[in-house]
Amino acid sequence: MATLTVSKEEEKRVKALGFLSNKGTDNFSARLITVNGKITAAQQKCIAEAAEKFGNGNITFTTRLTVEVQGIPFDKIEEFRAFVAKEGLMTGGTGSIVRPVVSCKGTTCQYGLIDTFALSEKIHERFFLGYHEVKLPHKFKIAVGGCPNNCVKPNLNDIGIIGQRIPNFDEDECNGCKKCSVEKACPMKAAKVVDGLLEINKDVCNNCGRCIGTCHFDALESGTTGYKIYIGGRWGKSIAIGKELDKIFTSEEEALDVIEKAILLYREQGKTGERFSQTIERLGFENVQKQLLSNDLLERRQEIIDASLHVTGGATC
Ligand code: SF4
Ligand code: SF4
Ligand code: SF4
Repeated sequence: MATLTVSKEEEKRVKALGFLSNKGTDNFSARLITVNGKITAAQQKCIAEAAEKFGNGNITFTTRLTVEVQGIPFDKIEEFRAFVAKEGLMTGGTGSIVRPVVSCKGTTCQYGLIDTFALSEKIHERFFLGYHEVKLPHKFKIAVGGCPNNCVKPNLNDIGIIGQRIPNFDEDECNGCKKCSVEKACPMKAAKVVDGLLEINKDVCNNCGRCIGTCHFDALESGTTGYKIYIGGRWGKSIAIGKELDKIFTSEEEALDVIEKAILLYREQGKTGERFSQTIERLGFENVQKQLLSNDLLERRQEIIDASLHVTGGATC
């Protein structure tokens, strides 16, 4: 086995920059942030060139939409970073901080109810970059899904957003048809004609919007765009399914504010080493929800950020 020359301190330092030690060697994998899983052709070329120039030619894709270039010698790390920066690419995504955002392809997907790439880019700017220096008790993962099909499993993230289309049913236009086309279109079996009038069971309806425009009598012509938010999910050594907030947010800004409040709450009230799901469990979901729906955390934003907390967080990868 080759003699390793990179010290543990140096290994730790470059890990924070997104360079992960290739076990048993002095080489590293560079983790490149794709913002939301979407990169340009020029960026792809740049990554391919960098893999040949600095690494062993291999490029791997992580489950959270980052790209890793393997086999980079320690002394080539800075050169590698400068090379990829020419195409606007950065390395990182490790540690007890807000992690790279994961997004589904809702922008182009036929089921997409929101522009997931645009929203996740905003989340990247505001929270991945904006909170980069803000230490948290552990890692904090955010995912954006375009519809209730949940392809990126938003509810298994610390915070997950799901696009919604809340059907606007006009009961004055409903004729209570024997064969209701809305009922037929609903994949959740939430819509049903009862006593001559369509009823949508709100406990079953997942706001997929598939029924909109299916009534020939114009009783269901439109829907309101919304954002469902799940908090406290995780999938790893331990598993927790995120719980949805009672409110469905109808403004993007409001949804983004909830993310910020969740990060602030986790920083202020989370214990070093615990995941957000454990913080929620300890504080109680209703307590956390109340704080996320009020403005106190945002009003104390600077105070929470300036506090000396979680100097050594709990994340090990
Ligand atoms: S979650 Fe919905 S919008 Fe996103 S990729 Fe899956 S089906 Fe498409
Ligand atoms: S919603 Fe439309 S299709 Fe369904 S019962 Fe009412 S009028 Fe008929
Ligand atoms: S929004 Fe989706 S789940 Fe709700 S009633 Fe319409 S089709 Fe059914």
